[in-house]
Amino acid sequence: MTTCDVAIIGAGAAGIAAARRLRARGVDALLLEAGARVGGRAFNESAGLGAAFDHGASWLHDALANPLTPLAEAMGMRFHKQPRRSKDGLMLDGRRAGEDERRAYLQALDAAEQAFEAACAGPDRDCAGLLPEGPWRATVAHWLGNIINGAPLEDISVHDYVAIDFPGENWQVAEGLGTLVARLAAGLPVRLQTPVLAVEWGAAPVLHTPAGAVRAKAVLVTVSTGVLAAGTLRFAPELPAELRAAIGGLPLGLLSKVAMRLAPGALDLPAFTRFERRVAPGDDAAMTFLLRPFGAGHAVGFIGGARAWALARDGAGAAEALFRAELARHVGAEVVATALLPGAVVTGWADDPLFRGAYSHAVPGAAGARAVLRQAALGGGRLRFAGEACHPTHAATLGGAWASGEQAADALLEWLGQ
Ligand SMILES: Cc1cc2nc3c(=O)[nH]c(=O)nc-3n(C[C@H](O)[C@H](O)[C@H](O)COP(=O)(O)OP(=O)(O)OC[C@H]3O[C@@H](n4cnc5c(N)ncnc54)[C@H](O)[C@@H]3O)c2cc1C
Repeated sequence: MTTCDVAIIGAGAAGIAAARRLRARGVDALLLEAGARVGGRAFNESAGLGAAFDHGASWLHDALANPLTPLAEAMGMRFHKQPRRSKDGLMLDGRRAGEDERRAYLQALDAAEQAFEAACAGPDRDCAGLLPEGPWRATVAHWLGNIINGAPLEDISVHDYVAIDFPGENWQVAEGLGTLVARLAAGLPVRLQTPVLAVEWGAAPVLHTPAGAVRAKAVLVTVSTGVLAAGTLRFAPELPAELRAAIGGLPLGLLSKVAMRLAPGALDLPAFTRFERRVAPGDDAAMTFLLRPFGAGHAVGFIGGARAWALARDGAGAAEALFRAELARHVGAEVVATALLPGAVVTGWADDPLFRGAYSHAVPGAAGARAVLRQAALGGGRLRFAGEACHPTHAATLGGAWASGEQAADALLEWLGQ
């Protein structure tokens, strides 16, 4: 049987951050990863797209406060820096929005967030019913809900929404955030394709994998709350009811991306051109676009919430059809007919049993769930949890996952007396 000090389940950002910190202090930490690669929801490939395409995280949110930014800088990575919110590619009814219209949209977004903040004086509730009336209401709901959270505002706790705050700039990395996180795992002991099936944590912890058992002094679980809720990773004894309720209160929303190559010379627009359109009330689920990131010859479409879950069921052909139809609303069907090369790369977070969605949100009434998961120290402290869902202010992000892993490692170091 393999033995180690700390067994870490999952080699995503949280697991890698925890392993680095533990091993830097001489603790024998071992990463057990079900997938064939490290990085989890930070993963990029070029897939013939001519440049890195991040399937998962692609922005370093709140970049100047993000723990990954100095690590990327130290590697000499190239950045594209954007303000928190610009909306410079806003389209209205097939034409570019005027400056006054763009400002009105930004004001509507601010007004919604002010209404959310004001509501925090009262009991937790959903965000949707707090949206101010006005011509931008559906567009604001779509952006703040389906795109940013991967879920409709009806499903989102206002207390949690307000607690999670990214005030600073958003930076993209030319080499891809997947590359960054994978490089940060270099040299760590990782067992790939080693799913943990069960954790016995009652006394001396034992983890069961198809490749044999691992005995550890302590266990850190970093799988997504979607995976935890699915029950495919079993715990013996069962997790306490309060913890199971917290996990259930933090489901994963879905953001999907569709990348398509541009024909030579087509859509010759500046790098990082963005298209977003006004959304009609009802179930108008708009796709937003990012064109030619870092000058690459591809465009990326983003779709979130219920429409993204439906597309995941309908397959890549449906995703490509939506991409074409939505892009046509910005540049016209004739342009689209010749601008795109056949074959779309579609992200697959929805149906991957190692993730089961994109990132977590708290449902109304579950604003305290992140703290329950973060503070859980079961078996006298030998079983802990980390990951994006645990971070108090930067949940749902890569930087939040990284910081959560470091915080859990600090707690384990204290527990181990090191
Ligand atoms: C489409 C999309 C866009 C995003 N955009 C951004 C963005 O722009 N900026 C940003 O900051 N964040 C973004 N995120 C969120 C960010 O990627 C995540 O918050 C972060 O990567 C989560 O890291 P983690 O370590 O908590 O979890 P994960 O990355 O999910 O790591 C957990 C690991 O556990 C493994 N695992 C699962 N089950 C088992 C098991 N039984 N045994 C062993 N291993 C197991 C998984 O394979 C995985 O590698 C995005 C995510 C998605 C999906």
